[in-house]
Amino acid sequence: MHLIDFLAGNLPAFVLCALLLGLLIGSFLNVVVYRLPKMMQRDWRIQAREVLELPEEPAGKTFNLILPNSSCPRCNHEIKAWENIPVISYLALRGKCSGCKAPISARYPLVELACGLLSAYVAWHFGFTLQTAGMLVLTWGLLAMSLIDADHQLLPDVLVLPLLWLGLIANHFGVYTSLEDALWGAVAGYLSLWSVYWLFKLITGKEGMGHGDFKLLAMLGAWGGWQVLPLTILLSSLVGAVLGVIMLRLRNAETSTPIPFGPYLAIAGWIALLWGDQITSTYLQFAGFH
Ligand SMILES: [Zn+2]
Repeated sequence: MHLIDFLAGNLPAFVLCALLLGLLIGSFLNVVVYRLPKMMQRDWRIQAREVLELPEEPAGKTFNLILPNSSCPRCNHEIKAWENIPVISYLALRGKCSGCKAPISARYPLVELACGLLSAYVAWHFGFTLQTAGMLVLTWGLLAMSLIDADHQLLPDVLVLPLLWLGLIANHFGVYTSLEDALWGAVAGYLSLWSVYWLFKLITGKEGMGHGDFKLLAMLGAWGGWQVLPLTILLSSLVGAVLGVIMLRLRNAETSTPIPFGPYLAIAGWIALLWGDQITSTYLQFAGFH
């Protein structure tokens, strides 16, 4: 219990612990982001073959979040424990596989670093509280979802739905808001984007966003209550517009390429949960309502 007492009374040490934990979790999130979509695609294939009454696929090798161990996609060199230390290993290896010298994507250490820094910030913001514990889990989940959505235009239910329940459970104990506000946050979050989706579809005949986006906003509402929804929608449109323009400039992409909305919702929701009250009251003051 000495360690817990020490962390409870020493904010810098607690923040440092959160940073280290965040770096390690970030390393695991890289695995989740890479493997989870592949696991889902394999499950869909198996289910589709069942429905179509096709013969079963030959059973492949075990592939889940734990097994097999990570290896270099080019030379199959198995990543050793010392090569798996967040950020440090990447720097020590100078961004190259120790077997074949193939370059390793800078995204891996960047995700680890981002996860570490975000975790440290959450710990500093909320201190040694239950709010920090819950918010860390949410932050890690949002990071994984954003990357998977950016890569595959996919927001896995297996990540979104458990976090929705977790938000409601946390608020049963009033950790972030009242259970009532959280419940209506989930309902209104889902319905608001669902209505936009159908309105857009009826007018243009196109699908403007995925069902995952409704669930993601429902999840954010479950954590912060319905009060965070207007700011989340507003900020996500702003973040989406700014990043969208930057990416169009950088990639010179065609305008028809689908831009996933999930990461913007995730970033906006995270900001609204941490600073929603300050942002709203500053705005109201600025607009002369106070
Ligand atoms: Zn290699």
